[in-house]
Amino acid sequence: MSTQTRKARPPELAVDKPRFRLVPMWYRKASCPGFDWRLWFPVNPRSKQAKIASVVCESCPVRRWCAQDALNSEESCPESGVIRAGVYMPSPLKRGSDRLTQRASAIERLEQIAAGV
Ligand code: SF4
Repeated sequence: MSTQTRKARPPELAVDKPRFRLVPMWYRKASCPGFDWRLWFPVNPRSKQAKIASVVCESCPVRRWCAQDALNSEESCPESGVIRAGVYMPSPLKRGSDRLTQRASAIERLEQIAAGV
């Protein structure tokens, strides 16, 4: 018999059955699951699809939590960039000097949203 004790699962995480993906509890109240997820991964942040995603985010009841989560996982954004809490975060893999400016302003906006400003 093992003397090791099992670590308790953090309370903010829940098992999303039946796929067994760990999702934060707040995400269960999110507005985006009913939409095509590709809207949140636009190739062009000024496209119609990006605007639709931003509009959905603006009325999302868990927008503040989403913004905080985006700040916590900021470096794990995909190649295409992503919209979180209505803010477009360019990919960390994107080249060019405006990427840093765009990311800095996105982080600033996410911090404001997370703070409820
Ligand atoms: S703020 Fe937007 S991306 Fe975040 S959970 Fe809500 S709808 Fe989804």
